[in-house]
Amino acid sequence: MIIVMEPKATAEQINIVKNSLEKKGFKIILNEGDVMTVIAAIGDKRLVDPASIASFDGVREVKLIQEPYKLASREGKEEDTVIEFPNGVKIGGLERPVMMVGPCSVEKDFEGLLRVAEAAKEMGCQFLRGGAFKPRTSPYDFQGLEGKALEYLAKAREMTGLLIVTEVMDTADVPLVEDYADIVQIGARNMQNFKLLKAVGKCPKPVLLKRGAAATIREFLLAAEHIMCNGNEKVILCERGVKGFDSTFTRNTLDIAAIPIIKKYSHLPVIADPSHGTGRRYLVEPMSKAALVAGANGLMIEVHHDPEHASSDGAQSLSIPLFKETQRRLNKLIGRIDYDNRQLKTQIK
Ligand code: PEP
Ligand code: MN
Repeated sequence: MIIVMEPKATAEQINIVKNSLEKKGFKIILNEGDVMTVIAAIGDKRLVDPASIASFDGVREVKLIQEPYKLASREGKEEDTVIEFPNGVKIGGLERPVMMVGPCSVEKDFEGLLRVAEAAKEMGCQFLRGGAFKPRTSPYDFQGLEGKALEYLAKAREMTGLLIVTEVMDTADVPLVEDYADIVQIGARNMQNFKLLKAVGKCPKPVLLKRGAAATIREFLLAAEHIMCNGNEKVILCERGVKGFDSTFTRNTLDIAAIPIIKKYSHLPVIADPSHGTGRRYLVEPMSKAALVAGANGLMIEVHHDPEHASSDGAQSLSIPLFKETQRRLNKLIGRIDYDNRQLKTQIK
């Protein structure tokens, strides 16, 4: 911890801070400059509340050096986490990026879902996504088919071999959803639902954690830490856009820089969702490409058999023909990325 004192801080004020930290077992290094004094306190910062140090007279600023997330951090585990599924699909590290595609919501028309799943399979995708429990801004909008949707997803998995990603919104539904899903999704709105994070932390299936629309990267990693410290270290992080100041052209602002930033500070796989990240169909392809080049370990894209009549998020959903065209180009790009150097430095050959 670094404590920067005010230029006018008195020797007594500096001593009070120093003594208080020494009493708590910190080793103190004083740096008395011409203008101000900086105190470096080395020790276990869990023994002291940084806010209480900041409230001492004469203190200008308290800075934490160590990140508060431990299990999610690269400091504790240097090598990339690679999550492997029973069918051999892998997410993370230098593995080929995975594709998770499907409708926003699973709807009544099973044939429609199957057509999307078959197209996904044909294009080499690994996962079928689809919401059974839908977090909707309006209570009057479609809320999801719940158990019926889970059955549809399982049937589509049986018919295509695709793995299933679907969201859980309530701790009470975790046993049901984990029974059906290959990846349990925590949506952006629940990124800081700590009881839910704890519940999926005890679940045997990998968790796809979406970034909250107003969450900092630190808060995002701490949300992952909640899952990991409850026993589940198979966490995939998903950048899905944050609230920007201009919603004229996009629904959210996809934070592409978050991808290499998170990969620098965490070993966990990171994917991007350009559908919710932009809210606009025409932006899905360019943002997908940007995310891949920035080092994403995969993409989540909404695809619907009839976007004009979708129960949710039709405006950002790709039709099946558009998805196929897009995926063809994405596959080409994926083939050209130099994965040996991708970890921190993406290169196009
Ligand atoms: C979703 O992926 O179905 C979804 C609701 O996304 P988000 O939680 O990112 O809004
Ligand atoms: Mn959606």
